[in-house]
Amino acid sequence: MLGLYRTASVLMIASAGSVLAQTVADQPDQLQERARRLAHEMLIVDTHIDVPERLHEHMEDISLRTPGGDFDYVRARAGGLAVPFMAVYVPSSMDGSGKAKAYADSLIDLVRSFTARWPDKFALVNSPADVSRLAPTGKILLAMGMENGTPLEGNLENVRYFYDRGIRYVTLVHSRHNHICDSSFDPERKWNGLSPFGVRVIAEMNRVGMMIDVSHMSDSAFYQVIRLSTAPVVATHSSCRAFTPGFERNMSDDMIKALAANGGIIQINFGSAFLRDEIRRQPETERAAINRYLTEHGLKKDDPEAKAFAAEYRKEHPPMFADVADVARHIDHVAKLVGIDHVGIGSDFDGLGDSLPTGLKDVSQYPNLIAELLKLGYSEEDIRNVCGENVLRIWSRIQSSSQK
Ligand SMILES: [Zn+2]
Repeated sequence: MLGLYRTASVLMIASAGSVLAQTVADQPDQLQERARRLAHEMLIVDTHIDVPERLHEHMEDISLRTPGGDFDYVRARAGGLAVPFMAVYVPSSMDGSGKAKAYADSLIDLVRSFTARWPDKFALVNSPADVSRLAPTGKILLAMGMENGTPLEGNLENVRYFYDRGIRYVTLVHSRHNHICDSSFDPERKWNGLSPFGVRVIAEMNRVGMMIDVSHMSDSAFYQVIRLSTAPVVATHSSCRAFTPGFERNMSDDMIKALAANGGIIQINFGSAFLRDEIRRQPETERAAINRYLTEHGLKKDDPEAKAFAAEYRKEHPPMFADVADVARHIDHVAKLVGIDHVGIGSDFDGLGDSLPTGLKDVSQYPNLIAELLKLGYSEEDIRNVCGENVLRIWSRIQSSSQK
């Protein structure tokens, strides 16, 4: 609580005259309570949670509190999470293997099995209208997105196929280029953006009303999508490059402006390396320090002295974590750049391993983010929009602009 108080005090000085900030600084407990109440009153929509991949590897009863992982029913309820998008993640290595579609189907079946197995706790939703209808039941409403377009397997009809199976967005690519487009993580730029098939995929997704997810793609693929898409597009789990210069996986200010001009939204990723540059650079900094030592002492990597140095270095420089306030800072950056209507949350829970920020370690902790936004002076209405209403509105617009 002392930490909260201090942060709030600094903010109060920074925004002199803000009555809200003053109230906050004086009563941190009340702020937390207000944030918790708000989290349960509003519809929190998180557009990227990697539960399918996690449970595919190791099945757990997520209707109960699970010892590991970032998501389960109990913690989702505690955090006020209403609509998590289950990410049907398909690895890049499956591109061209002929196995990707069947694999995606098996993960969709897995998500569907949650509602059959725990019908009083989970329900599937296919539209914002479903969300409105089912929200009063208090169940966790599962929507589905597919992370990687690899399962389209070069057949445009598969866009409609996956839509009919309940997929509502497709992240066109993941860590390596595929038959649709180039990836931000892949130095090889096979297509210089979209492939010829990728161009047709955009038109088909627009036609069907499938959301186009631009997270993970290269910059040139992004700008091509923006030029071609007749509907707004979504970055389901990306943060702001302004805080991580040179990190193509995050979105530059120019890209965020283009995204907003097209009516789209950026859903902020919670990964510590997405939020703060020194954390993103930590492995590189460590490698450089160790290599310097090896060179200076004429050592090889496997020499006992080299190993001892590396172990000591790691002990002195343990992994760093961002803070929940950093996520609020990214949201604030987008809001100031293009307006509060174009930003939301896409945590990447269950997809980031042990790299989540302090105060946002799992789905029970959204109230901490709400508290940070209150501290920055955002109104309850603004926060409601960021936490879910913005993306629901854009999802509706995309569906209603389809021509199916
Ligand atoms: Zn991802």
